[in-house]
Amino acid sequence: MRASEIRELLKLVEKSNIISLAGGLPAPELLPVRELTDIVRGVVDSYGWRVLQYSPTKGVSIFLEALKEFMKSHNVHLGPEDDVIATTGSQEAIYLLARVLLDPGDIVVIEEPSYLTAIQVFRQYGVKFVAIPIDDEGMITEKLEEELKRLRREGRTPKLVYTMPSCHNPAGVTMSYERRKHLLELAESYDLLVIEDDPYSYIAFKPIGAPPLKSMDDSGRVIYVSTFSKILSPGLRLGWVAASKQLISKLEVAKQAVDLHTSTLSQYIAAEALKRGIVDEIIEKAKRVYEAKCKAMLNALETYMPEGVRWTKPVGGLFVWSWLPKGISSRRLLEVALRKGVAFVPGDAFYPCGGGENTMRLNYSFPSIEEIWEGVKRLGDAVKELL
Ligand SMILES: *Cc1c(COP(=O)(O)O)cnc(C)c1O
Repeated sequence: MRASEIRELLKLVEKSNIISLAGGLPAPELLPVRELTDIVRGVVDSYGWRVLQYSPTKGVSIFLEALKEFMKSHNVHLGPEDDVIATTGSQEAIYLLARVLLDPGDIVVIEEPSYLTAIQVFRQYGVKFVAIPIDDEGMITEKLEEELKRLRREGRTPKLVYTMPSCHNPAGVTMSYERRKHLLELAESYDLLVIEDDPYSYIAFKPIGAPPLKSMDDSGRVIYVSTFSKILSPGLRLGWVAASKQLISKLEVAKQAVDLHTSTLSQYIAAEALKRGIVDEIIEKAKRVYEAKCKAMLNALETYMPEGVRWTKPVGGLFVWSWLPKGISSRRLLEVALRKGVAFVPGDAFYPCGGGENTMRLNYSFPSIEEIWEGVKRLGDAVKELL
């Protein structure tokens, strides 16, 4: 196990006056600080010692019921054979899924770029990646089909696909309806499981134009993973998996060995926040805040970046993904950028099979609008110095 260089870098940036476009934290102004005292008092008044007690591995039933209602009201439809388990963030969900489903040497299909900590989990399980590039319509499923055919000729099939169809992290793009259908057709003909990691569809600030894969799935192949980290609080460490009863019971066994159960208090807090409509309030506010911050970043990039630099136009999420002109290394750029007082994350870390040396991830959720403008200005200067 090797420590992530990026985490080490971020530790340094935290301690300095450098403007950081490197982090991945939700906007601090969206965290319900004022409401929390009331919510906690409310759950302690209503449920007493129960909020401090051990609770079932699958989750507190009041929470699970509220969660199912919440999903339904946001167009996430479960099948009749599906069930839900609460997890310690969706990170644990991904970890448990890998634990239950994967053996060393298994093939995992993943987008390129993809979510860093998911890559880390799969890597720890010793899987082989098949990386599929993305464009403005998400994973290029035609490429996936080619890869699946190629693998079949070699007598191999992937075990699962890990995808972020809505507001991809880090690219911010969304998979079109046609590609979603195509992906599910491929999953059916090649007998693949699909993990749909969906923290962001709830707070997309542009129309996604397609339902979650989970709602389009009628053969029980889609494993839906989501989290309260972007719609309530990441510090509660509360996520969930919706999948077949059979898989959920396996996850339950795996989870017992890891942490017995997800924080009881966090589940009561989330149940109460759902009941009081606070989650839906945060969702509405998040759409406005992130739209404004994303727009500031796109405008600043338009203003300060020299010819030849490209970037995505996110529909949601926390990041803009950007390509430098071929031959310019974002790691070298980072050295210059840090001297000019701005940090970002070089994109190669998000490429599961290598590559992406000229890409970078820019965070707009955490910095203020002023910091976004100033940070991008400094970054533009750094790029010009390298051209
Ligand atoms: C933010 C994010 C998560 C959240 O992880 P938690 O462990 O629930 O905080 C999961 N997946 C993706 C793609 C994310 O961007």
